[in-house]
Amino acid sequence: MLAKKIIIKGKVQGVGFRPFVYKLAIKYNIKGYVLNDSRGVEIFAQGTPKDINAFETQLRKKPPPISKIISIKSKITSPDQALKGFLIKQSKGSISHEVLISPDIATCPDCLRELFDPEDRRYLFPFINCTNCGPRFTITSSIPYDRKNTSMSCFSMCDNCYREYTNPLDRRFHAQPNCCPECGPKLHLLNNAEKLIAQGTNAIDYAARELADGNIIALKGLGGFHICCAADNEQVVKRLRELKHRPYKPFALMADSIKDIEEIAYVSKEEKEILKGEIRPIVLLRARPNVLPKSIAPDTSDYGIMLPYTPIHHLLFYFYKKYIPQDKFPILVMTSGNRSGNPICIGNREAISNLKEFVSYFLIHNRDILIRCDDSVVRVLGKKGFLFYRRARGFVPSPVFLKHKFPTVMGVGAELKNTVCFIKNDQAFVSQYIGDLKNLDTYNFFLNTIDHYIDILKIAPKAIGADMHPDYLSTRYAKEQDKLPVIRVQHHHSHILSVMAENQIDEEVIGIALDGSGLGPDNTIWGGEILLINKDLSFQRTGYLSPIRLPGGEIAIKEIWRIGLSFLYSIGEDNIERFLTKVPIRKKELIYDMLKKDINCIITTSCGRLFDAVCSLIGLRSSITYEGEGAIVLESIQDKGCDIAYEIPIKNKEDKYIINTQYLIKEIIKDLIKNIPPSIISRKFHLGLCEALAETVKNISKDTGIKKIALSGGVFQNQTILGQMIHKLTSIGLTPIFHRSISPNDESISLGQAYFVANKIK
Ligand code: ZN
Ligand code: ZN
Ligand code: FE
Repeated sequence: MLAKKIIIKGKVQGVGFRPFVYKLAIKYNIKGYVLNDSRGVEIFAQGTPKDINAFETQLRKKPPPISKIISIKSKITSPDQALKGFLIKQSKGSISHEVLISPDIATCPDCLRELFDPEDRRYLFPFINCTNCGPRFTITSSIPYDRKNTSMSCFSMCDNCYREYTNPLDRRFHAQPNCCPECGPKLHLLNNAEKLIAQGTNAIDYAARELADGNIIALKGLGGFHICCAADNEQVVKRLRELKHRPYKPFALMADSIKDIEEIAYVSKEEKEILKGEIRPIVLLRARPNVLPKSIAPDTSDYGIMLPYTPIHHLLFYFYKKYIPQDKFPILVMTSGNRSGNPICIGNREAISNLKEFVSYFLIHNRDILIRCDDSVVRVLGKKGFLFYRRARGFVPSPVFLKHKFPTVMGVGAELKNTVCFIKNDQAFVSQYIGDLKNLDTYNFFLNTIDHYIDILKIAPKAIGADMHPDYLSTRYAKEQDKLPVIRVQHHHSHILSVMAENQIDEEVIGIALDGSGLGPDNTIWGGEILLINKDLSFQRTGYLSPIRLPGGEIAIKEIWRIGLSFLYSIGEDNIERFLTKVPIRKKELIYDMLKKDINCIITTSCGRLFDAVCSLIGLRSSITYEGEGAIVLESIQDKGCDIAYEIPIKNKEDKYIINTQYLIKEIIKDLIKNIPPSIISRKFHLGLCEALAETVKNISKDTGIKKIALSGGVFQNQTILGQMIHKLTSIGLTPIFHRSISPNDESISLGQAYFVANKIK
C-alpha cells in the first residue's frame, strides 16, 4: 500500500478539478480525499503503487480542459488504514491565498446540447451551466470560489439541482452557479417605461422579434450590459449611432456560427479556433466588402466579431432566426451598454436609468453581476498568438507569469485606458480594462477593482508604482495612500518594462515606445521614444521623434487639423489656404498666429499626434470623435501594393537620435501637390516611419551591442506598424520583443509600474 500527498497549484478551482480527481480515484481504486485549499488543490491518495502511478500520470496528462496546472508536487506519506473510500472534502479557508479564480467560461457543448433538447429539464433555460462552463469571475465577490461567495448565494438549489451538485459523478458536481427553471434566476423583459412585457424564455422570444422588427434592446450579459440591434438593418444602426453620439467608432458584432461569420468576414483557421474557444473574445476580422451596411464600421475594413458565450445569447439567436427572412443575416450589433465615457452598466437599475433613451426594451434578470468586465478584443497574429486591443472578460483574473518571485506591490496605471496591477510572488495580476479615470463612475470602478483584487489575492501591497504625471487620478490616489511608499515611473519607461516583464526578459534592451502621450522628465509630452533600459531597469532616452508644438494643448488631440497646421508652420509653409481645406481659413489664421507668437503651445514628440497630423493634412479628417481615430483611418486606407517608403533623415544631436518628422511632412506636402493619392501617401508614411525607427535602433544597437528591441505603446496596435517593425528588425539581425499577454496600449502601464517597484524594493 502506497500513500501520497499531492499539491496542485494553478487555475484549478471552479474548473471541475475536484470531480475530475474523484472520477480518476474511483477508476483506479484510490482511497483518500481531495480538497480546495489556499494553495490550490490538495489530494491524499492511497492505493497499490501501480494504481497510484496510473492515477498520477492521468492527473498530469489529462486535466480538465479549462484548468491550468502551474505545478504538481507529490510526496510519499504514511498510509491511513482507517480510510474507506474517496471523498471530496470541504474547502479549507485560509489566510494566504495563491489560488486563481477562473475567468468566465462560455457555454460548453454539453450544456448547449441540453439547452436545445426538448426532453431535458433545462430545455431553453437561460442560465444553464455546469462544472466546465458558466459565469465565474463576474459573479464571485470573494474566495474561495464557493456558492456562498457568488451572486447565486440567494438562490437555494431545488432537490434535483442539489443532487447534481453533491454527486461526484454528475457533470454539475460542485458547479457553483448550478440551477434550473425551478430554482434559478428569472429573466424579464421590460419596456423603457419599465413595464413588464414578458418573462422567462418568452422574454427572449419577444426581444428577438423586436430586434427583427428593427428595435434596439439592452441585454444583460456576463460582465455588463450590451446594446443590441440587427446588424444588417442600416436604419437601426444609424439610429443607434445618432442616439449614442457615436458617428464613426466601429460597433462590435455577434454572430451565431462561424458559417455566418464567413458570410461577412474572412476567417483563418487560427481565428476560428479563438472565436470558438471557451473565452470568446471579440476578434478583429477583415470584413467582406458590401455585405453589411458601411455604418457598422465606417472607418475601417475590419469588424470586431464574437460568438455567443451565454445561454441567453444562444437563445436570442435561436428565436431571432425564426423572425428574419432567409436572405437576411442573423448578425447582431452587440455594443457596450453605457453612455459614452461611462463604464459599462452592470446593475438593472443603473442600466434602466442610463440606457433608457437608447433602447426600447431591457432584457434583464435577477442574478447580479458583481464584477464589471467588458468584452475582450483581440487580433489573431497567425501562429504567433494574439494582439490585445482590450483585455478583460475571459482573460482576467489569469496572471501574467514573471521570471522571478517578487515582493507584493501594486501599480495604479495610467489615466485614459487604466488598469491596475498586483504582483504577488512570480505572478502579475493585471486587472480588466477599467477605462478613463476622469469619469467619476470609472474612478469608482478603479477603487472597487483595487479593493477586489486585494481581497481575492489576500495581499497587502508593500509599495505602489504610479505615473510621473502629477494630475493623473491614479497618481493622486497613490499619493493619498500615506502608509505606503510611492515610486513614480515615467510613462514610456513603464511601457517598455511591461513588455519586458511579460516576456520574462531581465537584461538590457532598447525600447521603442510609440503612443499618444505621457509626461517626460523634461516636462514636455513624450510619445515617440527610444529608450535604453539598463541592467538595473533605469533608462536613458536615446532617441525620439522631432518635437512639434500642439497649439491650444489638449484640444489639438480632438481637433487634429491644429497639429497638421503646426507642422506646416514648423516647415515654413505659409500658404495655409492650400492645405487643410475643410477648416475655415479664419480658424487656421488664428491658430497660425498662435504658433507664431508661441502662445499656449505644448511641445510633444508623440507618435500618435504625428499620425493625426498626416491624417489631417491628406484630408481624411480634421477632427476626431474617438481615441485613435486618425491612426485607424490612416491605416485602413493605405495601398498595401505600394512598397515605397518616405525617406526620413535621422539627426544625431548630443548622443541622441532625432527622427526628423518635419522633413517627412515636407515630402508629404510635395506628394500632395503632385496629387499623389492618400492611399499611397499613407502607405509611404507607414513604411517610412518603420524604416527610420529600425535604422535608429540599428545605430543604437551598434553603439551598445544590445540586440533585443522591446516594442510597446498604443501605436503597436496598428497592424502595419507592428508587422513591419517585427519584419524589419528581424531582417537586420535584431530580436523584436512585443506584447502577447496584455495590450500594448496604456492598459500595460500598471504592469510596468509594478514591475519597476517590485525590482526596486526586492
Ligand atoms: Zn457546461
Ligand atoms: Zn433546480
Ligand atoms: Fe501610453
